[in-house]
Amino acid sequence: MITHYDIAILGAGLAGLSTLYHLGKAGHLAGKSVVLVDPEGRKEAHDRSWSFWEEGAGPFEELVYHRWQKVTLHNQTKNLNCEISPYEYKLIRSTEFYAHVNAYLDTSPNLERRTSLATEVQSDGEQVTFRLGEEQCSASLAFSSLPLHLRPRQIKQPYLDQHFRGWFVETEEDIFDPTTAALMDFRTPQHGESRFCYVMPFTPRRALVEVAIFSNEHLTTEGYDHILKEYMAAHWTSDYRIEHTEGGNIPMTTYPFPLRKGNLIYIGMRGGATRPSTGYTFYALQRQLTRLAQTFPDFNKLPPWPSRHIQYDATLLRILQDGKLNGAELFVDLFAGNPPERVLAFLNGETSIWQELQLMSTTNIPVFGSTFVRELF
Ligand SMILES: Cc1cc2nc3c(=O)[nH]c(=O)nc-3n(C[C@H](O)[C@H](O)[C@H](O)COP(=O)(O)OP(=O)(O)OC[C@H]3O[C@@H](n4cnc5c(N)ncnc54)[C@H](O)[C@@H]3O)c2cc1C
Repeated sequence: MITHYDIAILGAGLAGLSTLYHLGKAGHLAGKSVVLVDPEGRKEAHDRSWSFWEEGAGPFEELVYHRWQKVTLHNQTKNLNCEISPYEYKLIRSTEFYAHVNAYLDTSPNLERRTSLATEVQSDGEQVTFRLGEEQCSASLAFSSLPLHLRPRQIKQPYLDQHFRGWFVETEEDIFDPTTAALMDFRTPQHGESRFCYVMPFTPRRALVEVAIFSNEHLTTEGYDHILKEYMAAHWTSDYRIEHTEGGNIPMTTYPFPLRKGNLIYIGMRGGATRPSTGYTFYALQRQLTRLAQTFPDFNKLPPWPSRHIQYDATLLRILQDGKLNGAELFVDLFAGNPPERVLAFLNGETSIWQELQLMSTTNIPVFGSTFVRELF
């Protein structure tokens, strides 16, 4: 016997929960049988913090844990202080996000939660079929954020992991400015890679300090901790204790993630919502799902990023992967040569061609130009 649902959401992380939230708020779940599947069950943990910048209020504004009006960037020769109006840099913790969305979904009488792996997910164009343990299930429509494990050497597109580890610290003295986040601080040994720390202060004594590395060689936990310890010692003058840690990996690639197969729609990282050159996902995903809820059940406006921007990112990632330029100069120079709001709009995929030409004119044109052309083919 096959258990049938109108809508299946495979994966109850950021993308799965956000999809249900946007569709539910727009009234698209009314009267529909919906199943939400995840082997981890109902998520509650502080397993990640989503930072992003946006103009005005977003769909989860009341969950914003902290916001910054200024950001800094640093490398060995430049220290930039940027007012980012009309943007604000925001951080939402997974704890509040999971609690908020799950509480909203609890009001939905037709939602069934299944703590299980979904396997053998297939679409024949009309129906999506999958297994939950021994049980065979089908759905008229399914959204999947099940990870796609890519191997960098098997794809032709550029690929770099962004691997990172962060500490939530509390210091003994007032040392942080809670209005200013250090977006990228490359004043840490680079070892031929792009390595930077970032600092997101919540109060004068509490901050998230994180190290991120763009490379395909990961470190041990001790390796990341060593970088953070050295960074703290070099730039912050107070003793501190670590309250909480987080870490992970974000694949950065312009691999053409399929958007759908029939009525199986791919969402989140699996659906290419991650910006290849930065790893930022949250903002573009919410923008995509807001649009999807407006056009549902028309799925013709699915792409999370404009195709032009994917081409720019192929260029940028290839330059970093081949070591033609280093991230410490490339990213800081982009902010040094442009108003910060132009760079931030660009990284959100929201610039005009004219603004993009202005940005390109501030880069190393021979390297960017030749790599751009090469990545077209
Ligand atoms: C630690 C960390 C910090 C990040 N910080 C930021 C940030 O600051 N800003 C930003 O924009 N992006 C950030 N990202 C990137 C991105 O926003 C997150 O990875 C985001 O969680 C991606 O959403 P997702 O739904 O695609 O994946 P996930 O949130 O990982 O959800 C996928 C879900 O699928 C489930 N699953 C896996 N296999 C199966 C299966 N077979 N059947 C059913 N369910 C399955 C998993 O249990 C998981 O719950 C961060 C990523 C990490 C790892």
